Amino acid sequence: MSQLPPLSRPTAALFACLALVAAGAGHAAGAASGDGATTRPARASAAKPEAAARERLPASAAAAVDPVEQLRARLAGRLAAGKAVAGGAGGGANLQVVNVPPAESVVAPEVLMRPRPAAPRPRAAAPAANASQTGSHGSSKGSVHWSYSGEVGPQAWGGIRPEFSACARGERQSPIDIREGIAVDLEPIQFRYQPSGFSVIDNGHTVQVNMAPGNSMEIGGRRYELQQFHFHRPSEERIDGRQFDMSVHLVHKDPEGRMAVVGVLLGKGAAQPVVQTVWNNLPLEKHQDVRARVQLDPSELLPTDRRYYTYMGSLTTPPCSEGVQWVVMREPVTASPDQIDIFSRLYPMNARPVQNAAGRRILQSQ
Ligand SMILES: [Zn+2]
Repeated sequence: MSQLPPLSRPTAALFACLALVAAGAGHAAGAASGDGATTRPARASAAKPEAAARERLPASAAAAVDPVEQLRARLAGRLAAGKAVAGGAGGGANLQVVNVPPAESVVAPEVLMRPRPAAPRPRAAAPAANASQTGSHGSSKGSVHWSYSGEVGPQAWGGIRPEFSACARGERQSPIDIREGIAVDLEPIQFRYQPSGFSVIDNGHTVQVNMAPGNSMEIGGRRYELQQFHFHRPSEERIDGRQFDMSVHLVHKDPEGRMAVVGVLLGKGAAQPVVQTVWNNLPLEKHQDVRARVQLDPSELLPTDRRYYTYMGSLTTPPCSEGVQWVVMREPVTASPDQIDIFSRLYPMNARPVQNAAGRRILQSQ
């Protein structure tokens, strides 16, 4: 991961300030004295007084060895040239430059930043507007507030919206505790996964990876295209009562819109390369779908042992739609404790409780 070296922040501040100075110290001083007058005239006139001031410097000052002295002399000259400061007693105090280090960094950030608040009102408003847009973006997409606990937790999902009624009334809901599967010779699943482009979104319920087209799996004579995969902690599905640290759901759709989800259980162990690639590309903000600049191969998420359980169930989040063929890989894969901790910091618990499996047929590879 590319982290900025510690020095870069002051450097960036310095550049910002240098830019500011280029825009004209005369303007800054004008702002400090309460002059709301706009920037352009001040900016245009700033360069000239500065040059004039430099010319007017006494030879002794120009030749001074101490850069701070040089600086003080230059600023004094500049202030003399820019009349704006004359009225503001505080302005003079602000322009103490005693602690400014090398001559090149002439600008003490504090000196020039302090008068700034009066000027940049429009710029300050911009981030706030963006933030509120991001917030309303989520709701404008029609996402309804539901959660994994509290008043809008799983027990309430079915009543939040009419479209969510299957969450309460459905009879083939997921996840389930997988027990007493019928061991038969299940056909092997044909995974046709390959290195692909992807984007990552933190959708407020999980971290989801949206896949570029080109990955599919075939089961029961149907070919399903991989749409996205996402994570749960702890695992939603259980096997003989056992819950795992996490699970991955690879969500597929066939051309008629039928869905098949492959569940892969994650336990603590060696690091998982795909998980790491996803974490490396986590967006900074929720609800932003951020395209990664690398590829990932979803087949690296699959265990080497491709035996599986399969049963008919539902989406495990609202609207809890049924008719989903579930394929749960029998062999878990590993993720490192650090990788699991990273997800836990975002979503400590995002698993729907197990649903009643009574009356459902579960087949398993033997
Ligand atoms: Zn899921």
